[in-house]
Amino acid sequence: MRTAIVAAMHEELAAVLALMPDEARQSAAGRDFWVGHLHGREVVAVLCRIGKVAAATTAAVLAERFQVDRLVFTGVAGGLAAGVHVGDVVLADSFLQHDLDASPLFPKYEVPLYGSSRFATDRELTCRLESAARIALPGVAVHRGLVVSGDRFVATTSESRALQAALPQALAVEMEGAAIAQVCHDYGLPFAAVRTISDRADDDAHTDFARFVSEVASRHSAAIVRALLAQP
Ligand code: SAH
Repeated sequence: MRTAIVAAMHEELAAVLALMPDEARQSAAGRDFWVGHLHGREVVAVLCRIGKVAAATTAAVLAERFQVDRLVFTGVAGGLAAGVHVGDVVLADSFLQHDLDASPLFPKYEVPLYGSSRFATDRELTCRLESAARIALPGVAVHRGLVVSGDRFVATTSESRALQAALPQALAVEMEGAAIAQVCHDYGLPFAAVRTISDRADDDAHTDFARFVSEVASRHSAAIVRALLAQP
């Protein structure tokens, strides 16, 4: 069982690598893939970089070249739904690209030729990741539901409100998950994603994001990953 751990930002990857005693670097597609063990489990850890294309490339290389058996994304996101606060944790049960619109040829948000706008994550892996998050971060609020992705850092209250109105089920917004979900769907690869809320995707998002990433996010990611791999 080989698990891919994918992070979007350096701070998060660094905290995961610190838990790997034997990581060896392999380069592919201009990226560094760190192959080794975490809690005795085979792991490939990688920085996917930011945005949907970067995330999709990374997921495809993990499936093709590294032959991983499951893929876990860990990162931060902006909170959208009313009860989703900075510091909370969100598990994605499905993803949608909020900036995809091929209408009138296809319904808004639908991925052309897939007949669907949402890609589900793996239910069992998501349950495991959720219990890992609850064990690693006792007392932290954990939500589970729709997460939306797009190639935009949502950092104005007006855009955040527009997204909430258009997609009332969306708990959080980020920039990679829906792309990875689609690639994992194509490869039949179990996928789960956990996001700590770093900001509310509003006019304060930029300041909140920067503070949160350096202070909290990296510790959260590593603690959740460690608890996941400690499971039998
Ligand atoms: N490193 C840059 C930009 C990071 S982009 C900086 O320091 O400003 C934000 C990253 O966090 C992306 O990987 C995205 O998935 C996630 N994210 C956090 N808050 C977000 C928001 N409000 N809108 C979109 N993505 C967000």
